[in-house]
Amino acid sequence: MRKIIAFLTIFIFASYAYGEFSLIKLGIDNNNTVLVTGGIQGDEPGGFMSANLLARGYEIISGSLYVVPNLNMPSIIKKSRGINGDMNRKFDTLSDKDPEKDIVEQIKSLVLQPNITMLINLHDGSGFYRPKYINKMMNPNRWGNIAIIDQATLPNVIYGDLEVTANKVVKELNKHLLDPKHKYHLRNTHTAKGDKEMLKSLSYFAIKNGKAAYANEASKTLPVHERVYYHLIAVEEYLKLAGIEFKRKFELTPQGVKKALDEDLSVLVCGKFMFYSPKSRLGYIPLSNDGELEFDCDNALVALTKNKDEYNIHYGNKIVTRFTPQFFEYSNLINEIEIRIDEGEPKFVILGQKISAKNSFEIIKRDGVRTNIIGYGTTPVDESGIKISKDMIKSRFSMDKDESIYRVEFYEETDSKDKFIGMILVEFVK
Ligand SMILES: [Zn+2]
Repeated sequence: MRKIIAFLTIFIFASYAYGEFSLIKLGIDNNNTVLVTGGIQGDEPGGFMSANLLARGYEIISGSLYVVPNLNMPSIIKKSRGINGDMNRKFDTLSDKDPEKDIVEQIKSLVLQPNITMLINLHDGSGFYRPKYINKMMNPNRWGNIAIIDQATLPNVIYGDLEVTANKVVKELNKHLLDPKHKYHLRNTHTAKGDKEMLKSLSYFAIKNGKAAYANEASKTLPVHERVYYHLIAVEEYLKLAGIEFKRKFELTPQGVKKALDEDLSVLVCGKFMFYSPKSRLGYIPLSNDGELEFDCDNALVALTKNKDEYNIHYGNKIVTRFTPQFFEYSNLINEIEIRIDEGEPKFVILGQKISAKNSFEIIKRDGVRTNIIGYGTTPVDESGIKISKDMIKSRFSMDKDESIYRVEFYEETDSKDKFIGMILVEFVK
């Protein structure tokens, strides 16, 4: 069973300065829950993309896993380590005036939930750690490719053999190196003995409160999919050690990870909208004008921001596409529409889906509903009842880079301005 609870996932402009995060729960809640977090610093895509792929590409067969892929979403959007300073230095004492006070308190209370027995925080670090100086990028001051613990043991705490556990993970990672120079090491920061910076970190907050905590770092020198490859090897090993069984929907190889990441980016489902490999710029998108932005996406790394008259859809550190909003009242008059594909029998399609046609489609007329096929015709008249082939739609109105996916919007006809009901996508396939 897969259970997802979206926790504060709707990104609303006003709250950007303070941030919100998503908590995704996998498996069945129990008293041995592992919490994996990413994105505490916004410029570490290896960490947050790994957490997101863990949430979206794994199924938990037995045990309980919580994932927060986007601890610091406002900084992820800005590709900044921290737009309000380094969030990972705010877990000791923090002024009430700090704009991240609320979110830090939320993260703390999540970690303190009695069911959480292990915290794994994913980071990207520079270069490659080596215990002795080798060169500028390989030396004791580098943080890439290490498992980090704050101290060797945490007595009387489940998974408190921090050094033993982390060493097992390092050993596992080193069996799967893509290059010998990627060799993983264990780094014990001995935080309690005076590492002033690490005393303020999320991991040490967990340790102080009697929770086993580990951090995994992948090198910023590596391409993102290789960082994700190493992070997921580490996470899987921690999950095994915690007795959590899982199934993965992709192959854990650099190629398999790359494919899974690309696929995750290619389909974005946001409220009434869907985007398939969207072009870098789309035309008008009908947004709700009742003040509530119905654009909550099913993907924790996707967010919408406003830039003057344009809106940007973000996926992690990237802007996927931009569009111009057209404001409408929203309507829920219908949730499905009848459509004839390739001259077959008409069938009902739930709004918000993509359908495929070889040659043509025709929307069956529905009373009170106006069909608008984007890129066909110019005046706002009902475009149902017309057999539409690809050559009848202007290709520049396509949703995707391959110019094969088109948008059909439905409006409730009213005496004044029509209300937007929803859309479907039609893909012309060969
Ligand atoms: Zn970091």
